[in-house]
Amino acid sequence: MSLSLTLLGTGTPTPLVHRGGSSYLVRLDDEMLLFDCGPACVRRLLRKGISPTRIDTLFLTHLHYDHFVDYPYFVLLRWDQGAGRIPDLDVYAPAPARKVTDRLFADDGAFDPDLTARTGHPVSQFIYEMRGGALPRARPMPRVTEVAAGSEVGKGRWRVTATEVVHVQPQLICLAYRFEAEGKSIVFGGDTAPTQSLTDLARDADVLLHMCHFVNGEADDPRNTCGVSGHLDAARTAAAANVRTLVLVHMTEQVEQPGVKERVLHEVGEVFPGQVIFGEDLLDIPVDPIEVPRIR
Ligand SMILES: [Zn+2]
Repeated sequence: MSLSLTLLGTGTPTPLVHRGGSSYLVRLDDEMLLFDCGPACVRRLLRKGISPTRIDTLFLTHLHYDHFVDYPYFVLLRWDQGAGRIPDLDVYAPAPARKVTDRLFADDGAFDPDLTARTGHPVSQFIYEMRGGALPRARPMPRVTEVAAGSEVGKGRWRVTATEVVHVQPQLICLAYRFEAEGKSIVFGGDTAPTQSLTDLARDADVLLHMCHFVNGEADDPRNTCGVSGHLDAARTAAAANVRTLVLVHMTEQVEQPGVKERVLHEVGEVFPGQVIFGEDLLDIPVDPIEVPRIR
């Protein structure tokens, strides 16, 4: 079995060229799953040489736009390039994901004029046939399963468990996910303040992706700390959960300034004894133990 993880987007709503919004790719042999679909997700996939048509499953942690604004683009591009030869996308997300999806792709949805043209006009039908499609052309409609704390999803060799984390309730339901396949585990912490539910979900995981939204001590207003985590929060959760590798993601510019980044890594290392990775877009993350390579 080959299992790998790629960071597609490690940023926040703050627009940065080098950090897209939250988005992560899991590859289990030939199968690919996407966790969150934030700004630049599709472009990052293309940079990795991966067509959206190769991905059949998407999990969303919550419906903040920096976690799912590329959702319609991903669905439409996948459908258009798939030319009727791939199944509709399976989406697992908290409510109201089904309503949101309907308002995008249903007959009276935001993309109805485009879809009406692309399925009915001869130009689009010609291109569709050139891509290998057979008329009549169906419209895209993701198969949405709304999930909540305690939900378990399994397909083939993998299983995903959800728990609720502490972010911007009650306005949005906010989830974290644990992906497991053949004894390996990757936990996507989502956006959260420190919470026991995430520590429990991440227990003994191989990899924990944890938000590092600020430097603890530098933005300690309770309106901030009630819904997001700083570097020490991530370290304490990783230590309490006994994970092997902590990946810092969802980072603001504050965290990555020269000198600050090094301080963050040092202080995280004082709390958490495992491996720490400072997340960057397009970085491939080892799920197996990391060994120091030989000098060549
Ligand atoms: Zn959020």
